[in-house]
Amino acid sequence: MGKWMCERCGNCCRWPGVVRVSEPEIEKIATFLEMKPLDFIDKYCEVTYDRRGLTLIMKESDGSCIFLEGKNVCQIQAVKPIQCSGFPNTWNFPGWQESCEAKWDENATQAP
Ligand code: SF4
Ligand code: SF4
Repeated sequence: MGKWMCERCGNCCRWPGVVRVSEPEIEKIATFLEMKPLDFIDKYCEVTYDRRGLTLIMKESDGSCIFLEGKNVCQIQAVKPIQCSGFPNTWNFPGWQESCEAKWDENATQAP
C-alpha cells in the first residue's frame, strides 16, 4: 500500500493559507486547551477568505500557524485538525513535494 511519512520539518505550518477547523474539531481543541469553544474561537479563529468556515489564525510576525512553536512543534499535536494530519496523504497540491520533506514508505499503512 504505502504512505508518505511526515519528517516534521514544520513547513506546512509556515506556508501561507488557511487551516480549516470544523465544529467538532473546535470542541476537541478547546477541550484540550481547557477553554470554552466560544472563547477558543474568539482567541484563535477567524472567518476564511471564502467566508465558508473558520480557520486558525496566523502569527502576525511571520504568518505561521498560531500553534506552531519553534521550528516544528505543534502545541495541539494530539488534537490537530484533519487538514494537518491528512497532508500530504489525503490531500496535497501540484508541486507539494518542493515544500514538504515527507518520505514514501512502501510498507506503511494508509491511515493518516
Ligand atoms: S495546528 Fe499544528 S500541525 Fe496544524 S498548522 Fe498549526 S501548528 Fe501546524
Ligand atoms: S511539510 Fe511535510 S514533512 Fe514537513 S511537517 Fe508538513 S507534512 Fe511533515
